[in-house]
Amino acid sequence: MKKRVFIILICYILLILCVIFAIKIFSSEDEKNTDKIQVIATLFPDYDFVKQIGGDKVQVTLLLNSGVDTHTYEPSVKDMKNISDSDLFVYTGITSEPWADEIINSLENSNCRIIDTSEGIDLIESEEFEKGYNALSQSVHEHSEDELEEYEYDGHIWLNPQNAIKMIDTICEALCEYDASNADYYRENAENYKKEIQELDSDIEQAMNNLDSDVLVFGGEFAYSYFISRYNLKYVSVYTSCGEEAEPSVQDVRNVIDFINENDINKVFYEELSEGTVAKMISEETDTDPIIFYSLHNVSTEEIEAGENYVSLMRKNLENITN
Ligand SMILES: [Zn+2]
Repeated sequence: MKKRVFIILICYILLILCVIFAIKIFSSEDEKNTDKIQVIATLFPDYDFVKQIGGDKVQVTLLLNSGVDTHTYEPSVKDMKNISDSDLFVYTGITSEPWADEIINSLENSNCRIIDTSEGIDLIESEEFEKGYNALSQSVHEHSEDELEEYEYDGHIWLNPQNAIKMIDTICEALCEYDASNADYYRENAENYKKEIQELDSDIEQAMNNLDSDVLVFGGEFAYSYFISRYNLKYVSVYTSCGEEAEPSVQDVRNVIDFINENDINKVFYEELSEGTVAKMISEETDTDPIIFYSLHNVSTEEIEAGENYVSLMRKNLENITN
């Protein structure tokens, strides 16, 4: 009798295990969402714009995880395979992501369509920008030939909201072409998000016109030329560009500290997902606070989970500059 009860018990346990297994299989199939358009986007702005326009018709994956250096990144074999298996690959142009060249070449025989969101956007020429907007332009150091070639143009186009609007148009047109039956849905979503970005742009413009000092001081990597020129500001920075491997010279740091002391500056900005070591050092030497300025290459997992988007993070930048 005891033996029978034992066998029945074992059968029950097996049955429960089978049910759990079946649920797992079904839910993992559901996670794949094979009915949705599969998109892989390199940077957070591209990821966010695809998500906003594509809504529930699109499943978008961010290629570069939080904290990955977007300038020195190298795609893995698995990345290449995932991109080749996806429907659309969205990137921010070769200036911003030179490594994307390798991916694009590998997609020749794939059905994956390629979207370059920098299309139709005028790139900022780094040296010209430095001459026009650097408040320390008298002391701008001479660049070596190598430096000039590497940083000839700035690729951080998304930090000008007007460019963000053009990027949205490019993504929207590509989605409409790929999935014409839902074109009205994509266009409506794009229009709504563009309206939000237009409001953001007007709010930043108004606030920047009313700043006590129109010079922003940066103690971190410099990715902000599109922002500075859009709002006609000036800047001072220890780094000349973004993704630089060399530390700034003692003289460059000294120049920035002197500038802060001679002018009424109370903040020194640095990029998110970094230690801000130089910015913090400068703030200790001066009467300034080290403050985050989102450069938005990629964001933390917590911020994505909290539903932060391009507009909400750019509004944080506005708050950090004006408060
Ligand atoms: Zn950068």
